[in-house]
Amino acid sequence: MHHFSYKNGSLHAEDVSLTSIVDEVGTPFYCYSAATLRRHYRVFADAFASQDALVAFSVKSLSNLAVLRLLAKEGAGADVVSGGELMRAQKAGIPGPRIVFSGVGKTREEMASALDADIYQVNVESVPELRALNDVALACGKQAPIALRVNPDVSAGAHNKISTGRAEDKFGIAWSQAHEVFTLAASLDGINVAGIDVHIGSQITDLAPFERAFGKVTNLVRELRNAGHKITRLDLGGGLGIPYQHSSDASVPPHPSVYADMIKKIAGSLDLQLIFEPGRMIAGNAGILVARVIYVKQGAARKFLILDAAMNDLIRPALYDAWHDIVPIDEPEVGAGKVLYDLVGPVCESGDTFARDRPLSPTAEDALIAFLTAGAYGAVQSSEYNSRPLIPEVLVEGDKFSVIRKRPSIEEMLAKEEIPDWL
Ligand SMILES: *Cc1c(COP(=O)(O)O)cnc(C)c1O
Repeated sequence: MHHFSYKNGSLHAEDVSLTSIVDEVGTPFYCYSAATLRRHYRVFADAFASQDALVAFSVKSLSNLAVLRLLAKEGAGADVVSGGELMRAQKAGIPGPRIVFSGVGKTREEMASALDADIYQVNVESVPELRALNDVALACGKQAPIALRVNPDVSAGAHNKISTGRAEDKFGIAWSQAHEVFTLAASLDGINVAGIDVHIGSQITDLAPFERAFGKVTNLVRELRNAGHKITRLDLGGGLGIPYQHSSDASVPPHPSVYADMIKKIAGSLDLQLIFEPGRMIAGNAGILVARVIYVKQGAARKFLILDAAMNDLIRPALYDAWHDIVPIDEPEVGAGKVLYDLVGPVCESGDTFARDRPLSPTAEDALIAFLTAGAYGAVQSSEYNSRPLIPEVLVEGDKFSVIRKRPSIEEMLAKEEIPDWL
């Protein structure tokens, strides 16, 4: 469910026509719908209304300050994975006690800022990290509230690059070492062990891997409690998938309420505070990428739409073989027929291909198109590769819109670099 639809023959974000945004900001750009962001946050949060749960939005999926402020106003917490994201969450008004800090390689500086911000918990992923956090906490005269992230050795995720809970992945503490690491953590004066954390991957559209992982983890809660540990929190990570391809119902992800019921069944009797870190589920369908066709090129065997957006703006197809539905901004005539196109960007890489053999209504030079479901892991993964300035982000609410990240000029982009005076 999202708020991008045709009105009077033209694609709108809520009540704003995308062509009116193009007139003001040019192309390409990302456009987010405030109503969709709110709705998805609410659907997730409401699914856990009867359980003690903190919903910490995964900042890495869509980290614009305006989006974080919008979610903060809904009551969302934040899951951050760097000092930069921590600062974003704070700037957006998310209170420290609603922030969790994840990631395999936190530096001591990042740990110190996390303790300074009085965040809710640090998710610790290894013994060296645990010892470093203990040192940092003792040096600032604090005790660091933590969960230990365990690796349940469960395979999940739509793609190898977004599976994080298998034994061979870099994430979490090996299952076989969990007991000894909890015992070590309990012995450290700078550490307060509050819970267990698990995050098995992303774009998971099937409940089964979640059930396997959460079943293992709740058993671990019982074992650790029997061994005398006081486990009060269970962080179940993010990872709930979303539909990317609306013409197929091959993998319809479970509704958050079904996911919540499954968790209640598994963990309901344990009197645990639950923490969730959804990213894609909240941000994915709330954003689109709008681009213009620069040229229509007839190759020897294929027809190319060469766009002004490229892999540096949206890397998901190149990085994860991801599918995005692509639609024209001008609604095609009924019965317009379809042509197969390869949609590519101008970057000098064959990997700069968004889609192959994609059936679209006949498309001419200068036409505007939109990549749907581009809100999560879109703008945040963009780069200036090929010296292409980062593209703007626009937030729509009802009949108004604001540019929430402006397009830098090429001069501004180059201003970050310096030629030494000895050259
Ligand atoms: C990326 C990530 C998330 C968010 O994953 P989604 O699939 O976007 O919900 C949550 N927790 C951790 C630790 C992550 O690395």
